[in-house]
Amino acid sequence: MDTILKTSALESSALDPVAADTPLALEGRWCARNYKPLPVVIERGEGVWLWDTDGRRYLDMMSAYSAVNTGHGHPRILKALTDQAAKVAIVSRAFHTDRLGPFLAKLCQLTGLDGACPMNTGAEAVETAIKAARRWGYTHKHIPDGMAEILVAEGNFHGRTTTIVGFSSEEEYRDGFGPFAPGFRIVPYGDADALAAAIGPNTAAVLLEPIQGEAGIVVPPAGYLRRVREICDRTNTLMILDEIQSGLGRTGRWFAHQHEGIRPDGLCLGKALGGGMLPVSAFVARQDVIGVFKPGNHGSTFGGNPLGAAVGLEALRVIEEEGLVERSAELGAHLMARLRAIESPLIADVRGRGLWVGVEIDPALATARSVCEELMRRGVLSKETHETVIRLAPPLVISREELDWAIDRLIETLRAIEAKGTIPRASA
Ligand SMILES: *Cc1c(COP(=O)(O)O)cnc(C)c1O
Repeated sequence: MDTILKTSALESSALDPVAADTPLALEGRWCARNYKPLPVVIERGEGVWLWDTDGRRYLDMMSAYSAVNTGHGHPRILKALTDQAAKVAIVSRAFHTDRLGPFLAKLCQLTGLDGACPMNTGAEAVETAIKAARRWGYTHKHIPDGMAEILVAEGNFHGRTTTIVGFSSEEEYRDGFGPFAPGFRIVPYGDADALAAAIGPNTAAVLLEPIQGEAGIVVPPAGYLRRVREICDRTNTLMILDEIQSGLGRTGRWFAHQHEGIRPDGLCLGKALGGGMLPVSAFVARQDVIGVFKPGNHGSTFGGNPLGAAVGLEALRVIEEEGLVERSAELGAHLMARLRAIESPLIADVRGRGLWVGVEIDPALATARSVCEELMRRGVLSKETHETVIRLAPPLVISREELDWAIDRLIETLRAIEAKGTIPRASA
């Protein structure tokens, strides 16, 4: 991929006006290199399928990091989008609209929480959670001004703002972007005792993913979230969960924390909340937490816009009325069973929940990238995370036949790599 970009996009674009016009070359030439996409150029999508500019069809096992739980171009969500766009799309929160209330009411009903602050991207929902937690710490826990602390987990991923990457444990997310905001402390993930030991009088909140997505679909030990809930209750500390990727049916429950029968005090949602159409996010919380915001404290020009609200509400209705949560649980169990039955030296581990599974590739034998490239040639799109893990996360509208087709392609891919004997490395 890098080779393709270097030659056809960067060097030859100056010399060859035809090559410079291809989408790949244009993107390579003009777009910041903050991603390393697979060498496929998508033109169209419908349901679980994507088509490239040559008309080749791929099964999307990536779902835009779970932004497309309801599939590409869901007819109901598309209709909500176009109907609302034709009426009114953006007015800012300077005025009320007839769309925001119904959307947030539904969101609070589904989460069992009391109120919500609408935003756009996931990182903004997390920033909103951080602000709410700090302010709650000062007003409700009587933490001395400027001293509020938030505990986060090793391996966390909560977005890309400077504050958020400041408490990442990943050097590649942080390197060169400091100075970072103080007020965060990293504790080991999945270790409730370490968390309990780290909580002090100035700890306003604990911020966690119930399953760590970008870290490689890391599932904590059973009972972890329940223990965190108890510890937070005992110490009067907010339990805030980031379910931007794990929420809205991905794990086979509406929210991953429901597997442990607990409820957080604050919840960050995004990605699939936009119905695969728009960035729509929210911080949803208990009354005393969401209640810390007063007019002028916080805001977003686009947050809560009627277009996003109409799409968000329809996305929630589609997930509910089409039984996508149940489908994720059922097909997820099938996916996991089939993957665990694969005997391949390339597979070091299979883990996940619902239609969200990480296949860890033995790094001594192949890179996850090389497996993804081979999968792409066979019509399945996925993306590696952290060099060793292949993410399998199709839109929740996938059928059992389509899922089986994708698993069969994965098996073919593994066999092909095994058969080569010399294990191909990623092209980078
Ligand atoms: C993707 C993600 C975010 C950030 O969302 P953006 O919309 O990219 O800002 C935050 N937290 C988690 C768990 C995510 O997966």
